[in-house]
Amino acid sequence: MCDLTKTALKGFLAQKYKNEHGSENTLQLDHDIIAGSEASGKVCKYVDWLLSTFNPCPPEEDVWIRPKIHPCQKWYHEIPDSAIDSDYCDLLNTVQRHTRCSTSYCLRKKGNESELKCRFNFPVEHCLKTKLEFQEIHSKNNEQHYRAIIVTKRNDSRLNSNQQLQLQGWRANCDIQGVIDHYACVEYLTKYASKGEPLTPLLKSAFNTIINNSSNASHPHRAIKKLVMKTLGERDYAAQETMHHLLSLKLQSSSFHVIPVSLNGSQRVRTTCSSSINNQEACSNSSFLDIYANRQHYDSSPDITMLNFVQFVKKFKLVNNKLTKLPDDVIPRIFPTYSSNPKGPNYALHCKYQLLRYKPWKLRQDNAWEDEQPSDQIYINKWHEFLQTSYAKANVPDWFDKLQTIVQSQEEANSVSVDVASANTREEWMILADLNTPFNNSSYEQTQLVHDWQEDRSHYTDQQIGEMPTWVTRNKEQSNRIHQQSFEPVDINSFSQMQQLAYSIVKTHFKDTSSNKEPLCLIINGVAGTGKSYLITAIRSLLQSKCVITATTGKASFNIFGVTIHSLLKLPCGSRRNNDLTGQTLIRLQESVNDIDYIVIDEYSMLGQVTFGWVDKRC
Ligand SMILES: [Zn+2]
Repeated sequence: MCDLTKTALKGFLAQKYKNEHGSENTLQLDHDIIAGSEASGKVCKYVDWLLSTFNPCPPEEDVWIRPKIHPCQKWYHEIPDSAIDSDYCDLLNTVQRHTRCSTSYCLRKKGNESELKCRFNFPVEHCLKTKLEFQEIHSKNNEQHYRAIIVTKRNDSRLNSNQQLQLQGWRANCDIQGVIDHYACVEYLTKYASKGEPLTPLLKSAFNTIINNSSNASHPHRAIKKLVMKTLGERDYAAQETMHHLLSLKLQSSSFHVIPVSLNGSQRVRTTCSSSINNQEACSNSSFLDIYANRQHYDSSPDITMLNFVQFVKKFKLVNNKLTKLPDDVIPRIFPTYSSNPKGPNYALHCKYQLLRYKPWKLRQDNAWEDEQPSDQIYINKWHEFLQTSYAKANVPDWFDKLQTIVQSQEEANSVSVDVASANTREEWMILADLNTPFNNSSYEQTQLVHDWQEDRSHYTDQQIGEMPTWVTRNKEQSNRIHQQSFEPVDINSFSQMQQLAYSIVKTHFKDTSSNKEPLCLIINGVAGTGKSYLITAIRSLLQSKCVITATTGKASFNIFGVTIHSLLKLPCGSRRNNDLTGQTLIRLQESVNDIDYIVIDEYSMLGQVTFGWVDKRC
């Protein structure tokens, strides 16, 4: 369609040229004109076959009678063959016509025009025959451009384009367009992907409010913290994101699993054994490197022996001491990676790690350079030697290029490239990297390139490494206990009428000591800034230890010094805890909420139906 439209445009321009410049030497022009009109005919024929804006019984002509049962209430399979056409008319006239334009929906002022216009361009002029038209568009550099538009055959100025079969199956309003222009398609996608959020100006006003309300003597740290909370935390939720939350859908997905693999022998820390590290037991599992080095131990077939490291990690993992095939969607991200520039400072290291990747070796890394005493020269020589082998030719990706680079090693030094591994599983070096103070970074980036994490790792005991992944959680628990005693007092006399009302409902319920009192199910709504958090603080100091304050997000719960509803009730997170609780977990949950009579959920609107169901289940 796009190509045909281009041909049609060429014909249109040829015709235009011919009209403006007389008719000498028009052989090529005529050829273009004919080809253009053929192409244009094909496009229109296809569009007519695909969709329609023709109404067999337009309501203006008074031949259509509104059916007693709305067509949306019927199923497609209920329509007898004899009624297919009248059903189509009913659908067209009930759901497919843009009958009313209103300022709250489609009427907009465009640019500096004074008149309101329907943004879907209704009403549309009637048209006898489908045609392709070219509209001049204004471009920045004063070049002439044309946009192709399909004007479809139409006898009803309010009818939206439709496809009969689809409309009758779907039985609700739908829109269909032919794509005749790549750019229009990209434009459409971009418009949707980059749709602005209506609350964005709030960010600016939050900034100003905080700055204006801070006294000059206040600590800048606090002001900045508040600001970040407001701007980052109370960000806009896009409509799609909200729908995903409400329906408890995943916010992201990926067609591949990327696994970070270190050639420095860093080992995966077991996070499951939590804080109780048995000193006798290592806190980490064998790394891919260990498994590869000892692969003969698991399978001594030549197929396995002749695999190089990259091929091996793509194919196998170790499950219960057995090599198990990995699914196809695994991508190992192997590091460290050094510049392959022969003139660069890290070329020897590049050669070392290339050898470890692509040359099959056994038991010890030194085996990759034939157990010779490692040195820069050895790495370089052995890699160059290896590249000349037929094994390398067959198994090293871009083998020819790599060999070429060495041959023409006179090239200028390029900047060093480094793979930054995205971590979805934690390894020792990643945890150690977190300990590195990121603000003290004069030499920080350099460290990342050439740092030997194995050496850093030797400063810590197995126990310390094992405790690091849960360090934050444990310390948080400790500080939470201290935290719970200290709330700011709230002066309930400063309440607005509505705050007062909500507060007294809670208070009356709380003071009611009768044995048959019903649970208090109360929703408190209010736009931002109406003092919901303030009310929560007051309710907290009223109910004291009888209540627990929760929120749906970690950030919101931090704001109100609470916990997340997920952590309080052990709600499902992704695939975890997706079951009824049993055993120890259940007992622990029951103990932790035993004395609690009230659960306050802040930002409840972010709670999806499914999650809400789980809350109900857990209570
Ligand atoms: Zn309109």
